[in-house]
Amino acid sequence: MLRPFFTIFFTFCSSMIFSQEKNSVDRREFDLPSSIYKNYYKADSLLKIIEKKYSEVNKLYYSGKSYSMGHYNVPEKQKSYPVSYCLTSLNERFVLDKELNYKGRSFRAKMTFLEDSCYFNDYGEEKTERGLLKGNEFSYFHLPQNILKMIGKNKASLHLVDINSDYYSLGFNNSFGNKFYISVHKKTNLIRSLIQLQYDELYGDSHKEIIYSAYKKSIPYQIVVRENNFMSKELHLDSISVEKAFLATSRKEEKISIDTLSDGLFVLKLRDYNNKVLVSEHKAFLAVYEAPISIKIGNEIVLFLNKKFKNKPIKYCFLSHHHPDHAGAVGVFARQNARIVTTKGNVSYFDKLSKSSHTLEQQVPLFKDSVDYIIIDSLGEKSFFKNSSTSVVVYESGVTSNHTKEFLFFYFPNEKILFVGDLVVFPKEKILDQRSRAWSVYQLIYAKKLNVEKIYTSWPLKKQKEFGTVMDLKNALLKYYPELK
Ligand SMILES: [Zn+2]
Repeated sequence: MLRPFFTIFFTFCSSMIFSQEKNSVDRREFDLPSSIYKNYYKADSLLKIIEKKYSEVNKLYYSGKSYSMGHYNVPEKQKSYPVSYCLTSLNERFVLDKELNYKGRSFRAKMTFLEDSCYFNDYGEEKTERGLLKGNEFSYFHLPQNILKMIGKNKASLHLVDINSDYYSLGFNNSFGNKFYISVHKKTNLIRSLIQLQYDELYGDSHKEIIYSAYKKSIPYQIVVRENNFMSKELHLDSISVEKAFLATSRKEEKISIDTLSDGLFVLKLRDYNNKVLVSEHKAFLAVYEAPISIKIGNEIVLFLNKKFKNKPIKYCFLSHHHPDHAGAVGVFARQNARIVTTKGNVSYFDKLSKSSHTLEQQVPLFKDSVDYIIIDSLGEKSFFKNSSTSVVVYESGVTSNHTKEFLFFYFPNEKILFVGDLVVFPKEKILDQRSRAWSVYQLIYAKKLNVEKIYTSWPLKKQKEFGTVMDLKNALLKYYPELK
């Protein structure tokens, strides 16, 4: 009887061992993302160092030789022709003007890179054609700054390939999936070369390479292009000129406009995002009410306010509730060391949003400190800036809002303005019958005996009145709350 017992016991144990092994494999698979993050963050930190080394240049003139290999008298024989290159980087456009001298005659070619397009005419061609960047992108990298721009547009593909005693190499893709590698001097953090793998019909697997050398500041005075280890171009810098960028009106400014509601109280209108933000100005600082949508939009708001209010620090950020269209940019204001006025149910969520990294898309500093919260208790109220002309009282009344468990209303007693997140709407064209959310606004005004002349909302912006009155609110409620009559 012992034998079957042992057999069963052994089978049981081996299956335990097996399942343990299986578990450890699973765990290793689970660990994988952290190593990917580790590699990416290392590459990103190196990229930041490289970026600091390069400054914008806009016009560089090079001259040298272009090599051709063709139907000559022995295999792989090359001949060279004098060329001059002018590299212009201006107004988001990169232009490569080329001139080649062949048997005493000069031929011109031009490539213009703009976003995902490349416009070009080859030597001797009159017509400019519009083509995809794909297949032409290598020429874009004559300027090492363009490599950094391309990586910036394709951050998720950035990775560290190798570090040795003299160089480190990073890899990235462009949006067409072409693979590039750069090798960077460890001492100077300047790009030494860029390599692209490519297939050659004759030679098979091969590569193209641009080698930058003889740097002065961020400009390589020598550029060599090699294809499959054959010399293709040899260029040296002749001169640099600076052209003035035309004064493009910034899209960022157009996206946001500001209206003055009273001395020290403003509303920002975010047209592209159908959203509004209230701003109060005080002697030494600003306060914002709502932080809509995302880090990107938060950055735009901060840039706008810094310009408009001459870098007055934003010391308070009041958030009505946690929904992204009202609080998605909280991390931007937390990083500005603004005190975040909210309710306790939002703290861990806002912590998470504030401490997240955004290197794949956005430029925000890494989060260092802890977030400074001012918590408004359930059904509580708190006054701020009592000595300022723009004082504000915050009321928590989430249970009535029928929207979120916790909700803050902002009342400006001097201006008789109530600022409400998204519980009520005031369309321009008609009265829209509204129910419990709008009712909660009315309830608050009534319960707290607020003297309200104007109700401003943060969402939406389009097709809405500038503000609603208490009468507008009543009219919107009459259908479902006839007792209001
Ligand atoms: Zn909401």
